[in-house]
Amino acid sequence: MSTPARILVVDDELGIREGCRRVLAEEGYAIELAEDGMVGLAKVQEKPYDLILVDLMMPGIGGLDLIQRIHELDPEIILVVITGYAAIETAVEATKRGAYEYLPKPFTPEALSVLVKRGIEKRDLRLEARRLYQEREQRLLELAGEKSRLRSIIGCMADGVLVTNLEHQLVLWNASAVRMLELIGTDEPGKAIGHYLRDPALVDSLERIMNAKDEGFSMITQEIRTADPSSVLMAQMAPVRDEQGRVLGAVAVLRDITKLKEIDKVKSQFVSMVAHELRAPLAAIEGWLEVVLSGEAGGSEEQNRAWLLRAKERANSLLALVQDLLEINKIEAGKVAQKMESVQLTDVLAKIIEFFRPEAGRHRVSLRMKPSVAPPAVQADVRDMEKLFTNLISNAIKYNVENGSVTVETSQDAHFVGVHIRDTGVGVSSADLPRIFDDFFRAETKKRDKISGTGLGLTIAKKIVDSHLGRIEVESRVGQGSTFSVYLPYNK
Ligand code: ADP
Repeated sequence: MSTPARILVVDDELGIREGCRRVLAEEGYAIELAEDGMVGLAKVQEKPYDLILVDLMMPGIGGLDLIQRIHELDPEIILVVITGYAAIETAVEATKRGAYEYLPKPFTPEALSVLVKRGIEKRDLRLEARRLYQEREQRLLELAGEKSRLRSIIGCMADGVLVTNLEHQLVLWNASAVRMLELIGTDEPGKAIGHYLRDPALVDSLERIMNAKDEGFSMITQEIRTADPSSVLMAQMAPVRDEQGRVLGAVAVLRDITKLKEIDKVKSQFVSMVAHELRAPLAAIEGWLEVVLSGEAGGSEEQNRAWLLRAKERANSLLALVQDLLEINKIEAGKVAQKMESVQLTDVLAKIIEFFRPEAGRHRVSLRMKPSVAPPAVQADVRDMEKLFTNLISNAIKYNVENGSVTVETSQDAHFVGVHIRDTGVGVSSADLPRIFDDFFRAETKKRDKISGTGLGLTIAKKIVDSHLGRIEVESRVGQGSTFSVYLPYNK
């Protein structure tokens, strides 16, 4: 059962108060009484009432004042004026101040209950209207909040966003879209999309989306070239639908894929280079095995063995190539956990020189470390340092000439420790020098054909130096020799 309506009777006449109580209590209302305006006002301040019967002529606060003050407290309260002074002006004045009705004394119980019943119905309507109003205000507030949140989220997105309505007007966009598509005229909103977009293909796709009546039609993905030929965008466009699935417009999300495209290109170039590099030794191995198997080699064990040895040599170089590729892949994927520690490079170099001494002897090349004051230690990964200088010293021996020399020397400036590997070998032509650190690059020399290699040693060396925030340089002259210098930063 709903709570009974609360009614207050404010009248200085006891008879009227009690009379009202009797009649209205019977109707099921909750009744309270006040003998003057002050008491009545105090009660209204204390708790809410639905309807108040007010006598106009009372000592203390008069009825008209009371009406006004109660109304200020609760504008939806129903005020019914009762008075014996049934002057029409007073009644008009009372309604101006917020009274709902006027009940002249003396009144019958029926007149009272009819009026109160109507008043309470009115009160319910007023409360309902207030609730609806507040609800609407709240919804509007939430909507405005939602809208501005949405705008700020879209505004700070790195991806470009465009939204159109069914009238093909641009209704929402963000700064990234303006920048990527070089949108024009966005200071005049509400025009057709063609007014803002330069790219006819994009306009065309958005129109197709907006005209799509087919429910299953969900998305168009399209690459877009902008006015800047070096940049590529990927646009994903989809219809915006309401809850019933009706198309309301279209949304386009744009992503700058220039970098991805470049990486993609480099990757596929690398794959085709790798395939190319693998094909030649594999074909050679296959060829030699074929010769042995077919008996074309003459069939003698000695001859077969010679062919098989060649195949083995190529297989070894293939293995070296695959190992280098794996090494590069590891460095690039950041999979090698570098253990940075304080490393004295002269110690690393001395060890490598000792290791290569027999190899240098076989090539009749003298290999030595030029004595100098030991440079400061660098923060580096020892395994990386070993790989780096092994590659450089091995090259200096491989690409040397008979009776040539390899000298390793260190230096130091304000920020870097330098290691210089100087050889008196075949040298590199100025045409080849800029490509010397490229993947698979091997200079074309007569001597090179006999020297095994993958063309990846210097690529790895450069990647190691880069990962240690250093730099690698080369100076070379054909027929005179080369100097490879590595500079690694040190902490003072
Ligand atoms: P690889 O030695 O396996 O061919 P690298 O990447 O180490 O591959 O070297 C690439 C190319 O650079 C070599 O094939 C060679 O032509 C040239 N090169 C490297 N080091 C020297 C050097 N010290 N003297 C002359 N040429 C060199």
